[in-house]
Amino acid sequence: MKEIIEKLTKRPDSVTYEELVDILRDPAIDEDLFKAADEVRKKYLGDEVFLRGIIEFSNVCRRNCLYCGLRAQNKKLSRYRMTPSEIVERAKLIAQKGIKTVVLQSGEDPYYMPDAIAEIIQKIKGFDVAVTLSLGEWPESYYRVWKDAGADRYLMRHETASPALYAKLHPGSSFEERESHLLTLKRLGYEIGAGCMVGLPGQGPEELALDLVFMREIDTDMAGIGPFIPHPDTPLAKEKKGSLRMSLKMIALTRLLMPTCNIPATTAMGTLHPRGRELALKCGANVIMPNMTPSPYRAKYQLYPGKICIFESDDTICASCTVRLIKSVGRIPSKSKGFRKRGIENELVHTQHPCQ
Ligand code: SF4
Repeated sequence: MKEIIEKLTKRPDSVTYEELVDILRDPAIDEDLFKAADEVRKKYLGDEVFLRGIIEFSNVCRRNCLYCGLRAQNKKLSRYRMTPSEIVERAKLIAQKGIKTVVLQSGEDPYYMPDAIAEIIQKIKGFDVAVTLSLGEWPESYYRVWKDAGADRYLMRHETASPALYAKLHPGSSFEERESHLLTLKRLGYEIGAGCMVGLPGQGPEELALDLVFMREIDTDMAGIGPFIPHPDTPLAKEKKGSLRMSLKMIALTRLLMPTCNIPATTAMGTLHPRGRELALKCGANVIMPNMTPSPYRAKYQLYPGKICIFESDDTICASCTVRLIKSVGRIPSKSKGFRKRGIENELVHTQHPCQ
C-alpha cells in the first residue's frame, strides 16, 4: 500500500489502469489516499479555494440524458429562460461580491446561440472577471465566436469514459463525440473541464478507472466529480445513488494524478451529505461554485432532486455561506480568477525522472 501511495504522489503518470482499478476496489487504502491527496493539494496549490459564481440561466434542453431532470422528455418541469439583461445584471452582482469567475450554465438550449451568448460574454468581461461556459455541445464555429468574445473556460463533463455506458445514458450521442468536443475546445485555447458521475448504474471500479485515465490523458484543467443522484422524473428514478466514499476517492485520485487540476467540491457532494463539500475540500478539492441563480429560477434548475441552496430567501446568501464553509475547514477564499497553475507537472516529472 505504501508503494502505491508513493507512486501516486511521486510518479502519477506511471500509475497504470490496472493499479487504479485495484485502488478503487480496496477500501483499506482510503484514509491514506485522502491524506496524500490533501498533502499534494497543499504542496502544489496552497490553501486558497477558488470561487466561481454560477448562473443557471436556462433550464431548456434539447437532449434526453437518462439521469437528468432537465431532459427534454421531462414534461413535469416548468421551463424558464433568463433574459440577456437579467444574466448580465446577475454577473455584475457576482463581480461586486468579489467573486472573480462567472459561470454561465444552461441546458442545451438553441435559443441564445451563438450571438446572444457572445454579447452577454462581452458585457460580463467588462466587470473584470473570468467567464466559464457550460452550455453543452455546439459547432466549433460557435466555440470560436465565444472565445473571440472573451470566454476563458468551458465545462463539459464527460460523465463516463466507458463508451458502452456513455451510449446507454446519452441517446443519440457517443463518447467519441464528447471527447472530440473537449479536444476542440482545448485547441481553441479554452481551459477545459471534464468530469464524471460516481455510482451510475452499470459503473464499477473498471469504468471509474477509465474516467481517471481519460482525464489524465486529455490533461483536463478542471475535473467536476460528483455522485449520481437519481431524479424521480427520469428513467433512472429507481436506481441507487452513488456513495460518498467512492466520490471522495475519485476526487482524491484525480488530485494525485493531476496535482494542479482545479477540482470543485460539487453541489452534488453537498446534496448527498450535509458535510460533503467540506469533506471534498479535505480530499483534494480546491474550488467551490456558489449558486447565484436568482429566484424564482433557481428552484427550477433541478439536474437531480434535493439540490441544496435552492430555497434560500436571499438569492445572494450562497456567496457568504460559501466563504464561511471555506474558512470552517481552515482554508482561504481566493480573490483571484483562479486559472490553472501551469508548469508544475513538468517540474514534478523532471524531478522524479531526471534520466528521462
Ligand atoms: S445533462 Fe445537460 S445535456 Fe443532458 S439533459 Fe441534462 S441539461 Fe441536457
